[in-house]
Amino acid sequence: MKRILLILLILSVNVLMANVKYNPTIYRGYVLNSSIWNDSNIHVCWEDFEQSTPEYRNAIRSAILNTWERHSSLFFSGWQECVNNESENIRIQVADVGPHVKAIGNRLDNLDNGMVLNNTYQSWGTSCQNNILECSQTIAVHEFGHALGIAHEHNRPDTPIDTCTDAPQGTNGDIIIGDWDLNSVMNYCNPTWNNGGNLSQIDIETIQRFYGTVNPPIASWSSGQYSNNEAIDTTLVVENGRCEDKEILLTIKGETESNFDYIQIGTDEEPYGPRLSGALNLSRTYHGCEIKIRFRSDSSITTGGIHVSINKTRLDT
Ligand SMILES: [Zn+2]
Repeated sequence: MKRILLILLILSVNVLMANVKYNPTIYRGYVLNSSIWNDSNIHVCWEDFEQSTPEYRNAIRSAILNTWERHSSLFFSGWQECVNNESENIRIQVADVGPHVKAIGNRLDNLDNGMVLNNTYQSWGTSCQNNILECSQTIAVHEFGHALGIAHEHNRPDTPIDTCTDAPQGTNGDIIIGDWDLNSVMNYCNPTWNNGGNLSQIDIETIQRFYGTVNPPIASWSSGQYSNNEAIDTTLVVENGRCEDKEILLTIKGETESNFDYIQIGTDEEPYGPRLSGALNLSRTYHGCEIKIRFRSDSSITTGGIHVSINKTRLDT
């Protein structure tokens, strides 16, 4: 009888613990379900262009493109100066304070100065002065995590308090995804600050669960393992109609012999951008319905080659 009681006790404790761990209404957590945007097209604007340079704004946009946007069905568009009476989703202010969001997820919708990023680090985070763009990119990936409805990982109730002693901070989530993740960009206890601005595997699973996975490429081109002198000009065509306001998200991956073999990407309107060579793994957006690819090699070494794919398109409405 004692043994049965003990088993019952253990079972009920287990059930209780299971409830603590997986109850979706639990107070502390990770993703705030009600703050998930219901449109995967999120419009972003800058509150005041004079507070930042185009170089800074492009760096931030590129960091988001290569993380949250690249790994989900999300498309962040706009990135122009905010207009006072126009509705936007995320309004970014640049100021010399600790970067933060005023709310998480869709609660930021059209909120004045909803996200604040730094670009001088004169009074806050002075160690970033040596590396302003990279620092800002790393921080922006974290803040955009919040803007997508993700709370701090170390706010989770299953945070191992013996190894992660940072106090919970900010809004909590109410859904836990995956195991507690030391490598998350949203975890203060991560030994690599903001995970170097790179999403962890669980960050990617999280974003895909709430915002969908990336569909198979719409169009792609691959050099393959090239070994001869190659001079290829080719075009990837997305579709006809409404090209003038179409945005294309392109991913360029692979490797060429650095400085000798290269690829250039352009569009009808802006043919052939800068030469890209060496190890490549980047995403960019373009306007139009066509991507023009120019590939040149001198065949002195063989590498894995280059793969270019169009992952998403949308109308910039
Ligand atoms: Zn944070």
